Amino acid sequence: MSRAAATPPAATRLRLRVTPAAETAVRSGHPWIFSDSVQAPNRAGHAGELAVLYDRHDKFLAVGLFDPNSPIRVRILHVGKPQTIDAVWWQARLQSALARRAGLFDAQTNGYRLIHGESDGWPGLVLDRYDSTLVLKLYCAAWLPWLDQTLALLQAAIPCDRIVLRLSRNIQTEAGRQTPSRSDGELLFAKAARTEPGAPVIFSETGLRFEADVWRGQKTGFFLDQRENRREVERLASGRRVLNAFSFSGGFSLYAARGGAGSVTDLDISAHALESSRRNFVLNRNFPAVAASRHETVQADAFDWIEQAPATFDLIVLDPPSLAKRAVEREGALRAYERLNALGLRRLARNGLLVAASCSAHVSATEFFDAVRRAARKSGRNFAELKTLQHPPDHPVGFKEAEYLKAIHLQCK
Ligand code: SAH
Repeated sequence: MSRAAATPPAATRLRLRVTPAAETAVRSGHPWIFSDSVQAPNRAGHAGELAVLYDRHDKFLAVGLFDPNSPIRVRILHVGKPQTIDAVWWQARLQSALARRAGLFDAQTNGYRLIHGESDGWPGLVLDRYDSTLVLKLYCAAWLPWLDQTLALLQAAIPCDRIVLRLSRNIQTEAGRQTPSRSDGELLFAKAARTEPGAPVIFSETGLRFEADVWRGQKTGFFLDQRENRREVERLASGRRVLNAFSFSGGFSLYAARGGAGSVTDLDISAHALESSRRNFVLNRNFPAVAASRHETVQADAFDWIEQAPATFDLIVLDPPSLAKRAVEREGALRAYERLNALGLRRLARNGLLVAASCSAHVSATEFFDAVRRAARKSGRNFAELKTLQHPPDHPVGFKEAEYLKAIHLQCK
């Protein structure tokens, strides 16, 4: 924890005021201060420095991580009474994230999220566990100067064999400029010499085994956030012909197969993803239902392929990547969701099930559910809504912008 000792003395602390609107937002728990809400900083600050925020009466408001190059200028760590951010404080913060997961998973599940960014009080930082591998993913440059300290903290608190660093694309250049330089997919720590950087890590989710490409894969290597939707698919899959569109490494497919699906078709544009799915089927052949299920993979654009699909299916999963990366893309994304689900409904057999998901943070749950319901109404078929699901408990949400995941399950006559 050398960093706490190395922080500048109080006189030179970076101090700033924020607009009244930002003050209100921070007091009600919002974790971001945008650059245009910052007023009267006492000096320029550098990425990762602790900034102390004062309210309109010059009283302590909050402390956060400063980032001069991000539109989110300060990410709040603490709000309320003045607080020293030292080693003990960080340990307590880590423990509260770990405690939140205590009892959530049994030995059948050793892949899950340990720290979910802002909503766990670690703004811009994610920590996932895949068996004995931890994957630390940073989404903002402010964490780079804190990396050694964070690594030591994790090693002391969480038994693990290795820790892998992942960096979001927007901070990779900055990471390369650090001393020492940091890179995406870097092995930060390994207990056993047998660690082979680049080899997929095998972990379990509800007893199913999956590989995760923790070094280069999307997110931290697997879509841990879809666990609850996958379990639902398993419960409903018996005897069905299943299409898993945007299948990635076959997460939904393995659950469908274990649930007794007659056949499972994985559809993805990426050959790499489909290869991973085939390996995941091999990993789970010990389940008689998985071994008995017919598995095929199709490499194609999902919109095009579904439009011309030669067959119908009894259960269709539609889980595309984010269709609105920016707020201005919201309208277009809603149209795309409606179109995709309309196409899916055309390929859905009588009494078929549709599981439609969205991970676009800029599209609200209500907007998305309404787009899918619209597609269902326009299809002219009677349909029943089975359920809607949002964030699983290891991916908690603490503020509006963090609500990205939603899924709706429909049955169509
Ligand atoms: N459902 C998956 C996660 C999906 S991630 C799971 O539970 O693990 C999105 C996937 O969509 C990626 O694998 C990506 O390769 C694929 N993809 C992106 N655009 C696509 C397109 N136009 N057609 C088909 N697949 C696409």
